[in-house]
Amino acid sequence: MEELSSNSSDYAANSWVTWFLGTKGNEYFCEVDEDYILDRFNLTGLNTEVQHYPAALDLVTDALEDELDDSSRDAVENQARLLYGLVHARYIITSRGLAKMLEKYKRADFGRCPRVLCYQQALLPVGLSDVPFQKAVKLFCPRCEDIYSPKSSRHGTIDGAFFGSTFPHMLFMVYPHMLPSKSPTSPSPFLLSSTSASAGAGGVGASDEAPSAAGAGPAGAPGGGSTSSAASKVERYRPRIFGFPTHETAKLHRWQEAQRDAQIERLERAEARSALASAAPGAGVGAGAPAVPVGLAALD
Ligand SMILES: [Zn+2]
Repeated sequence: MEELSSNSSDYAANSWVTWFLGTKGNEYFCEVDEDYILDRFNLTGLNTEVQHYPAALDLVTDALEDELDDSSRDAVENQARLLYGLVHARYIITSRGLAKMLEKYKRADFGRCPRVLCYQQALLPVGLSDVPFQKAVKLFCPRCEDIYSPKSSRHGTIDGAFFGSTFPHMLFMVYPHMLPSKSPTSPSPFLLSSTSASAGAGGVGASDEAPSAAGAGPAGAPGGGSTSSAASKVERYRPRIFGFPTHETAKLHRWQEAQRDAQIERLERAEARSALASAAPGAGVGAGAPAVPVGLAALD
C-alpha cells in the first residue's frame, strides 16, 4: 500500500484536529487527512446530520473567523465533534484511512480481547449502527469473532457511528494476512480436532473416514488454508467437575460439535469438488460423487 509515516501530520500543533486527537478518551480516532475533509464530495449529506454545519466545518478546519459567544461556542464545538466523527467513519474505509487504522491495530491501541483462549488478540472498533446516537462503539475480536464493550467509560460512550459497521471487516478484506489464525501457537488442552470431537459424540462415526474417503480433495488443499481446516482448529473451553465434563454442557457441546463436523464435511466436499472441477473440468462432479461415503449423504 501507500508509504505512510505515522508521525507526520497535516495539521499545525494548535489546530482543532490536533487538539481533538490529543484529548483523553479520543485515542481510538485516527487523523483524517486535511485534503479529505476539505473535499466537499466526501462530506455529501452531512449538512443534514450536523447542526450549525458551516460553523462546525470551519471550526474543524480552523477557518472559523467570527468570535462566538460561550453558549453558541459550546453548541458549535459539540457539532464539530459530531462532524469529525462522521467524516472519520467514511475516511477509515478508504485506503489511506485503513492503512492508518492498521498501524493503530498493530500497536493494540484499541485494546486486547478479554477472552482467555484469544491470547491477547488485538481488537478493532466497530459500530453496531451507521446512524449516530443509536449505539456506543464496541470492539471486535477477529479471533473469536465476538464484540466487547471498551474497558474505559471514556471510550464506552463514543458513538459507534464514528467507526461504522463496515470498518473492521473491510480492513481484513483489504489486509487478509492480518487475520489471526484460529489455531493456538502451542499445543493446547482445549483444542479438539474434528475427529476426536466426533469420536466423543459416538453417533457420527462416518466422519472418521471422511478425510481418507474424500481422497485427494482436502489433502490437496494448499497448506491447510481451507475453510474446513480452519474450522476444525477452533478451541473452546469445557466446564469440568473433578476432570469430568458437566453433563448438560457436555450434551450441548456434543450436539454442537456434531453440527460443526457435519458442516466441515460439507465444506471439505465442496472444496474437493471445486479442486476436482478445476483439475479436470469434464470429470469433475462425476468422479467426486462416488468417493463420498453413503453415511454422509444423510448429513445434508
Ligand atoms: Zn476474542
